[in-house]
Amino acid sequence: MLDVEIFTLFPGMFESPLRESILGRALTRGLLRVRLHNIRDYAADRHQVTDDTPYGGGGGMVMKPEPIFAAVEAALGDPPRLPVILLSPQGRLFTQERAWQLAQAPGFALLCGRYEGVDERVREHLASEELSVGDYVLSGGELAAMAVVEAVTRLLPGAIGDQDGALDDSLSSGLLEYPHYTRPAEYRGWRVPEVLASGHHAEIARWRREQALYRTWQRRPDLLAKAALTPRERALVDEWQARHPAQGKLTESGEDNPLA
Ligand code: SAM
Repeated sequence: MLDVEIFTLFPGMFESPLRESILGRALTRGLLRVRLHNIRDYAADRHQVTDDTPYGGGGGMVMKPEPIFAAVEAALGDPPRLPVILLSPQGRLFTQERAWQLAQAPGFALLCGRYEGVDERVREHLASEELSVGDYVLSGGELAAMAVVEAVTRLLPGAIGDQDGALDDSLSSGLLEYPHYTRPAEYRGWRVPEVLASGHHAEIARWRREQALYRTWQRRPDLLAKAALTPRERALVDEWQARHPAQGKLTESGEDNPLA
């Protein structure tokens, strides 16, 4: 069972997402345990203050260190028995690779900031890692924490119906995933690629792999540098590159797609 401990000023934000769909099922099946800790409960003063003005002046408020240390130490001990991940736009980018690593860990704690963020001493002396969910700024770490919990949970064995699907997903293989189609075979004159209805499994697998490769080359060429490609696949990419040096500006499924 993956043990996730969330420290937040707004535990109510997690209630509905944790009840629904894959997360809800993972919790009832005992694959996942999530405990929510309200940092405000650990504020020592009568008014339960958890933030204060910044030293040095300027606008905004900063989350005080004492209630955060007290909450984490009460739940996880000192030193904490699990790694404490601070959600922060200044952190390392959260990736599918990190999600796989976290899914194999016994658990982790997520610390959600608010306002201008947490007092720097929390980052220095309590957090073991900082993770960002993207190059944009949210008002709080709660939605970022949900993104981490959601991405990690679907990788737990038994969490989703088709476990192999998780391996195929965009980024798990180092590539973006191939396009998907379902019935009807023709909709408004737009036909599903014939190979997919051919029943020829080897051909379908080859088409999907090439589409994944093409998509990745077109949209995220940075991923291709790290992806494990066969010599034939490398040659294919080199050929596209030679034919279309302005790669990335191609249309989705237009004539430019050499696989269309
Ligand atoms: N002043 C901070 C800065 O410039 O780095 C931003 C604070 S932000 C308004 C408040 C909180 O939201 C942060 O402490 C963090 O927990 C969370 N947050 C905002 N953007 C995030 C992101 N991209 N990834 C993870 N957490 C984020």
